[in-house]
Amino acid sequence: MAETVQSGNVKRRRRLRYWRTRAREIRKLTWRGISTRQPILAHIIPMRRCNLACTYCNEFDDVSKPVPLDEMKRRLDDLARLGTAIVTISGGEPLLHPELDDVIRHIRKRGMIAGLITNGYYLVPERIERLNQAGLEHLQISIDNVQPDEVSKKSLKVLDQKLRNLSEYAIFQVNINSVLGSGVKNPEDALEVAHRAMALGFTSTVGIIHDSNGQLQPLGAHEQEIFEEIMSLGKRSFTRFNRFQHNIAAGKANNWRCRSGSRYLYICEEGRVHWCSQQRGMPGVPLHTYTQADLDREYLTVKSCAPYCTVSCVQQVAIIDNWRGPQTLKPQAAPPHPGGLVNLSGLGPDAASPSDSR
Ligand code: SF4
Ligand code: SF4
Repeated sequence: MAETVQSGNVKRRRRLRYWRTRAREIRKLTWRGISTRQPILAHIIPMRRCNLACTYCNEFDDVSKPVPLDEMKRRLDDLARLGTAIVTISGGEPLLHPELDDVIRHIRKRGMIAGLITNGYYLVPERIERLNQAGLEHLQISIDNVQPDEVSKKSLKVLDQKLRNLSEYAIFQVNINSVLGSGVKNPEDALEVAHRAMALGFTSTVGIIHDSNGQLQPLGAHEQEIFEEIMSLGKRSFTRFNRFQHNIAAGKANNWRCRSGSRYLYICEEGRVHWCSQQRGMPGVPLHTYTQADLDREYLTVKSCAPYCTVSCVQQVAIIDNWRGPQTLKPQAAPPHPGGLVNLSGLGPDAASPSDSR
């Protein structure tokens, strides 16, 4: 595959944005390491519609309208009010939202760090430059296989030109996530995806497919070997987090305290707060009524799905607090609401990867 040429200008802008983002991250995470009362990460859904139809996914449709910009801004204001450090936009396919750049601008305007999870199909040079200008700081694409098949068309062959576009034009950080686990036909594909990501100068993560409740399905021996090889390619140095990942690959339980609903928030297209994409409906409270009392309660609430959970973005967020704040509260009954979103019945965007994958 052809390599890319990055202009000196793009390199300079990328370095500058990288160091500015790192400085803001350090400042924000230092404060949130001292106080446990503010969210570190929120995922927000600006629309459910998607241009693809991965067969394992139940988090998309092909009809829904974008959440209006004013409403998105109100929700982002609410996240800022709660003290959220990082906001990652997910979907559906968020690049279908006609005013996505303004959504990103508003995240930055409110002082939060802006991330995006996309299937990558729309990443032509002009679109990437608009994301640069809007102030995007992180982007993640999850690639399921090398050749498209009946399950997924998030494929290296289809997306390679888009990855090269990113390598040439993006000044934000790019992470490519590959996946392993049941339903993935060729585990070797994950290795090829990881190598390609690193050759293009991106970071690379690997996720393990989980079941309908975000729970672990252990890897076979060959898949475990590939998992370890990909992990050794990466530059992760967070020993505790590595242990999480290795336990997941080996099918072992993790002993941790999930802080979703508090340090991590999932905001659906209706504007409700959920524990995560895999436990929607808990607590299911509208974001505009969410208060410090909700954050404090959820911080101390036991999540019985934690031992075999594979949703690694929430695990990463939890590391900062794992040694403190024993969880003693039982979950509140979820309030009824029109969406009726209480627990999922199929795999969703995060299912293909614990790392905010799609
Ligand atoms: S996994 Fe992502 S790309 Fe695939 S259908 Fe779901 S939202 Fe769309
Ligand atoms: S442990 Fe937390 S992140 Fe994992 S499935 Fe349960 S609520 Fe979601």
